[in-house]
Amino acid sequence: MPPQPPPPFEHPQFVTRPLLPPLAEVMQALEPVWASGWLTNAGAAHQSLEARLQQLLGAPHLSLFGNGTLALLMGLRALGLKAGDGEVITTPFTFPATVHAIQWCGLTPVFADIHPHTLCLDPHSVAQRIGPRTVGILGVHVYGLPCDVQAFESLAARHRLALAYDGAHAFGTTIRGRPVAQWGDATMYSFHATKLFHTAEGGALAMRSAHTKQQVDLLKNFGIVDENTVAQPGINAKLNEMQAALGHVVLQHLEAERQRRQAIRARYEKGLQGVPGVRLLHMPEGVEDSLQYLVLRVASTPSQPRRDALHTALKRYNIITRRYFHPLCSTYPCYQGLPGAQPQDLPVAHQAGAEVLTLPFHGGLSEQDVDRIVQAIVFEMAALPD
Ligand SMILES: *Cc1c(COP(=O)(O)O)cnc(C)c1O
Repeated sequence: MPPQPPPPFEHPQFVTRPLLPPLAEVMQALEPVWASGWLTNAGAAHQSLEARLQQLLGAPHLSLFGNGTLALLMGLRALGLKAGDGEVITTPFTFPATVHAIQWCGLTPVFADIHPHTLCLDPHSVAQRIGPRTVGILGVHVYGLPCDVQAFESLAARHRLALAYDGAHAFGTTIRGRPVAQWGDATMYSFHATKLFHTAEGGALAMRSAHTKQQVDLLKNFGIVDENTVAQPGINAKLNEMQAALGHVVLQHLEAERQRRQAIRARYEKGLQGVPGVRLLHMPEGVEDSLQYLVLRVASTPSQPRRDALHTALKRYNIITRRYFHPLCSTYPCYQGLPGAQPQDLPVAHQAGAEVLTLPFHGGLSEQDVDRIVQAIVFEMAALPD
């Protein structure tokens, strides 16, 4: 029997939804905040969350921030990558904030290509872009799959470059049991509502050195040392007590969410196995990933943009997939003139950008929901012209 189309969903199915703990638990967590009358500036909830996350993420040092973008910005500054003619090599296959952070530090982003399997920045391509102005490398653990951290460690050491990671997707990612926060000089985490662990808005920076932590803690609070001393042109990038309290509650529900996502991923894997033209992203050996996104690659060419066709077709079922990360940052009008931004310099990133499709993936999906999404993909792929 040829495949049959499933009925459309009554409500739109988005790629994710915020983890919402029972409201009563949030209210309970807010009680001590209210009783203290201390709403921000490193209060008790902030301090305890910072300590808890440092442990959980295995970070040598960690600071909380009002969002991940500011954490990354402060990190790049604290590593000494100040404005000037310095260049930071990064990936075009990411969320705009990665490249914006480099630009906001007054540095020049330089694009290098990505690895065809992990879709993370490729150390070989980075090595080819290193020049006299290069001061740092900023990799992204895309979808929570880790970069080739060993290769970057030696590349950065050999050329005396700062090494930072955007780990916005990588909450809980480990490589052979070792958390990603333990590689590089600094790793950013985002606690935006769409991320697995969240504080509505928020973020953190994991750091190798105590000195860097001292620097970012100054920078995020206007550069104020004490009553008499303002040491640096800092900014306001603090996480407040309500956000920290929410974070504590969300942490209590994280393991259950991860288990549900594991089961959902297994169901997708089973359903999509052997379906012509599509494959789920492959998990490298020894990696425990963050279960942040579920990403399909749809075989596509410029004359056969099947990914785009599937993306459009699924909307008819109320399945709202996303083409993360299309368009590539290197094609934005503000970045397309930068070094390394030409499409012929980034063939792997362009191919990946044309193939990826992020599917609904969160603990609120039932097995039936997953089966229905799989059925829609199978039907629509069979209906596409060869
Ligand atoms: C979410 C995200 C960011 C931005 O984090 P915010 O906390 O929203 O500032 C940066 N980079 C990547 C890869 C992201 O997914």
